[in-house]
Parts: sequence; structure tokens; C-alpha cells
Amino acid sequence: MGIIDTVSETLQASTESANRGGGKGDGSKGAYWCHDCAERVRDVDVEGDDPPSCPDCGDEMDFERSPASTGCAC
Ligand SMILES: [Zn+2]
Repeated sequence: MGIIDTVSETLQASTESANRGGGKGDGSKGAYWCHDCAERVRDVDVEGDDPPSCPDCGDEMDFERSPASTGCAC
């Protein structure tokens, strides 16, 4: 019982800090791609640090940084 309370509090805290400190709104650094299928999954939609599998072909997807994170987006 206590564990569930602790987990939900932790999730809320990390969501808040990501929104505040990210500067880009959602903390996304890029996206995973399957170039064969043109499938794209944003990193913020993936749990953990492991690359997800392509929903179409099942291959491991490649991480690609968002170009906006390396320069000025003005
Ligand atoms: Zn694929």
C-alpha cells in the first residue's frame, strides 16, 4: 500500500521537474526511428533507456537526437 503512494509521488515529482527544467516543455531529447518503416517513437514515450522495437518489423530502433536541442531554434 505504502509503495503505491511512494511511486505516484515520485512520478508526479519527476513530471513536474521535467516540465520546469526542460525548457522545451516535455523533456524530449529526440526520437527513436526505424528507417525501413519510417516509424518514429519519441523518447519520452519509451520507458527506460533501452531502444524500443519497431512496431512494424520488430527491429531495434535507432535513436536520433532532436536537431533543436543542439542549436538555437529561433
Ligand atoms: Zn521497422
